Amino acid sequence: MNKNETDSESTLSSSMTLSELQLLIETMYSSKDEARGIDGTFMWLMEEIGELAAALREGTKEEQAAEFADVFAWLATIANVAKIDLSDALHKKYGKGCPGCGQFVCTCDLSTKP
Ligand SMILES: [Zn+2]
Repeated sequence: MNKNETDSESTLSSSMTLSELQLLIETMYSSKDEARGIDGTFMWLMEEIGELAAALREGTKEEQAAEFADVFAWLATIANVAKIDLSDALHKKYGKGCPGCGQFVCTCDLSTKP
């Protein structure tokens, strides 16, 4: 397959669900991710979170966006290795509102973690 075919056939639509992200990551990286395991993958996530912090402090919008994408990709990777469906997990935890107060506009005290 030449580069043009790759670009035209594999480019996803501009929006992506969490399930699509997890499937994409699974397709691209699953054998490497399984070999690295959760511990090794978690270290990469932490590195990417550090890079996101740096980009938020002094990066361009483009650099910040790229770092958000990396953090999401590594989070999806860990979820894949741990066999967690992120969309399902988020729906269960946040789909009925704030897990702390049960409201869709959180009324938890500012000093508590919801
Ligand atoms: Zn709340």
